[in-house]
Amino acid sequence: MKPVFHCKLINNYFDDPCLLVRILHEKKALLFDLGDIHKIKPSDLYKITDVFVTHTHMDHFIGFDTLLRGVLRKDTPLNIYGPSSILPCIQGKLKGYTWNLIEDYPTEIHVFAYNGNHVSHSVFAAKNGFRKQTVSKSKSDGLLLKNPLFAVRAVRLDHGIPCLAYSLEEEFHINIDKALLIRKGLSVGAWLNDFKRILREHPGDENQTIRIGDKSYGVLELSDIARITRGQKISYATDIAISQNNLDRLSRLIKGSDIFFCEAYFLEEDLKRAVARSHLTAKTAGALAKKADVKKLELMHFSSKYRDFPDKVIHEAMREFCG
Ligand SMILES: [Zn+2]
Ligand SMILES: [Zn+2]
Repeated sequence: MKPVFHCKLINNYFDDPCLLVRILHEKKALLFDLGDIHKIKPSDLYKITDVFVTHTHMDHFIGFDTLLRGVLRKDTPLNIYGPSSILPCIQGKLKGYTWNLIEDYPTEIHVFAYNGNHVSHSVFAAKNGFRKQTVSKSKSDGLLLKNPLFAVRAVRLDHGIPCLAYSLEEEFHINIDKALLIRKGLSVGAWLNDFKRILREHPGDENQTIRIGDKSYGVLELSDIARITRGQKISYATDIAISQNNLDRLSRLIKGSDIFFCEAYFLEEDLKRAVARSHLTAKTAGALAKKADVKKLELMHFSSKYRDFPDKVIHEAMREFCG
């Protein structure tokens, strides 16, 4: 199965955690956390449509200006999701510049702030000098984004301040039965991407047709070449206090993830410090991933005090995760 989400941690264990997710055959990418993003290529930066910020400590938010500069003049909106603090922080960042020459830019930043119960939606448009416009406020159980291809959920956790953890889930996965396709006298080609898109966007619609070469086919009559399986699930969590409430809520969110990206900020021998700083230890991260039946654990965000021996952090987490 060809994965739909291609995930890449931008920085090393000791620099800001930041996950770029490219989406197969789509000209868009998602970003989890907005710390130092200088290593993202400008062409990838331009593809980013949705950014999911865990909280607005500097190491998770300092990249806002870099991103804004990279997508300024783009005619599709930039959507940014985060806890309640995201709204005043973005407003503050935008107020830090002078915007008198951008009235004809199409740029719009849509901000979705989730407080655990409600999502408030605000827009900052270049044509209005990036002044805040409030759009709506609606009740939410944490489902922040849903489209025919995937959904993103958040859960609000405690890090001394509210901090969101996220899961990204493909609705379902479509595999093509190539042997059957060939038996039907068809050949593999770019039309398969359109075919998959129609199956996702118009399920069960018998009026949908697709052109293959110079012939037109009903999508439903070809649907037996599509094998539907469970979709890919990615989750991302960092800067979390070790509390039963946090661990229970996070465990439910990340359950069964194919890949779980998680901080391992402190070693268990520094548990006191971890508690004081509201961070997980490597051991807790490993145990959490195991309990939640995660398939692969990817560690990130280590304290710089372990710079000379990152393997010790990795081993501690993996001992709990793999046994
Ligand atoms: Zn951090
Ligand atoms: Zn933090």
